[in-house]
Amino acid sequence: MTYPPTQSDSDRQALLADAIDWAVAHGLLVRPSPDKVNDQFVNGSVVTHAPFTLYPTPFPRAEFEKAKGLQQPWNTLIHKLSLDDALITEVMKELSDVDDFMRKLYEIYLKTKEEGIIQRASLGIHRCDYLLHAEPGADTKSARIQQVEFNTIASSFGSLSTCTSQLHRYLLQASERYASGVINIDQLPENRSVQAIAGGIASAWKLYGNPHARVMMVVQPGERNVFDQRWIEYNLLESHGIRLLRRTLEEIEDRGTLDPKTKALTIDGHEIAVTYFRSGYAPTDYPTSKEWDARLKVERSLSIKCPTAAYQIVGAKKIQQLLSVPGRLERYVDVYTADLLRESFTGLYPFDNSPEGQQAYKLALEDPERFVMKPQREGGGNNIYGEEIIDTLKKLTVEERSAFILMELIRSPPLDNLMVREGKLIEGEVASELGIYGIYLNDGEKAIVNEIGGHLLRTKAHATKEGGVAAGFAVIDSPLLV
Ligand code: ADP
Ligand code: MG
Repeated sequence: MTYPPTQSDSDRQALLADAIDWAVAHGLLVRPSPDKVNDQFVNGSVVTHAPFTLYPTPFPRAEFEKAKGLQQPWNTLIHKLSLDDALITEVMKELSDVDDFMRKLYEIYLKTKEEGIIQRASLGIHRCDYLLHAEPGADTKSARIQQVEFNTIASSFGSLSTCTSQLHRYLLQASERYASGVINIDQLPENRSVQAIAGGIASAWKLYGNPHARVMMVVQPGERNVFDQRWIEYNLLESHGIRLLRRTLEEIEDRGTLDPKTKALTIDGHEIAVTYFRSGYAPTDYPTSKEWDARLKVERSLSIKCPTAAYQIVGAKKIQQLLSVPGRLERYVDVYTADLLRESFTGLYPFDNSPEGQQAYKLALEDPERFVMKPQREGGGNNIYGEEIIDTLKKLTVEERSAFILMELIRSPPLDNLMVREGKLIEGEVASELGIYGIYLNDGEKAIVNEIGGHLLRTKAHATKEGGVAAGFAVIDSPLLV
């Protein structure tokens, strides 16, 4: 059977129009870049649909279920990692000298630890990302998930992913022309990521215990693409009656105060129960020392952080690489779980002065097309591929090299689908990255929430290496379980 379903041009155009209407009517939206907006429209009043696939992309059901099954162990593991001071010290000893951003984060971690941690509860809203891997030439049915990374800060698209799952369900249910006989509704899994994320924040808010306190979302100044964040805010109010403030790090430094005794965080007259960071993951989020001061202020406060500095540090790619060292996972989980988690690991190597690091260096020079080189960054567009690895390695000292890890390329079997961006259909071979959200709340003694929080599928042209939606590489999709 051909996939996506073949159609006449006129049918396809009609479908496209249907899909765009649905997207716009249901908030599957982004704001176009300012240079594309006529200046007759003011105050951000021009929107377009978020980029999406016209059809869900086939994904093996067993691998989808496997990824979901790994999420609760991951939630617990990330929490345990965040409590492992020896691990954080070990990693930061190496990174502090070569990565300013990581060092600043570590300084906040150290300072608050030294002062005594006021808030022992922590909230995790994570996302583990996977690509399907099949050996070149092998049957696509043999494809298995391999982990790209795990995110512990500002995991995005929790809302727009729910929307896109609904869009594909709508198209299937509303239109005979869409895919009758090709797609069954039970192949489109329910996706409650926005409800799960808002629910996690609500649980933390309740744990804080002040019915008058609010939730604060830390946002980037001037951010245009706010709808994914807004849906969480609306769900929090509509389903839980909890109000949310949006504030930048600069505003927090200017106007936020800590109660000298309780360390309760107050801003503009509102006590903050939960601080949820949707900014603060990249060096550009901290243009001056002011933003770092704001981060420290929040970290010191009684508000429940999502994430804490420790959670953010253990989300580093260096930690991901360390976990693949034999015996490492067993420090935190039983052998059965360790094997289960490890099954989704691809080759990960240090890039430092150790014998393994030297070996990785040689491997990368010999066969750069086999690898991706990654710094300790988040948000897309930072990785180095292929021949560029060689150029980069030539410029780095051995010490500077240790700011990176080396990772084996995951090779997704190509599939066909149609992507829609700014109203235009883009046809061709695609590859999809599956994200599973994890929601975790620990009160300082025990887990009180540990949930699988829905999923995200991002799809990009197969030939493109990077995968970010916001960065313009990928579109939002939903899995068709096969
Ligand atoms: P970031 O924190 O910037 O999101 P990622 O590790 O997720 O960094 O890498 C960004 C993108 O690069 C991924 O979405 C994926 O498309 C691609 N990528 C990363 N690692 C690999 C890999 N090992 N094999 C193939 N593609 C990869
Ligand atoms: Mg990523």
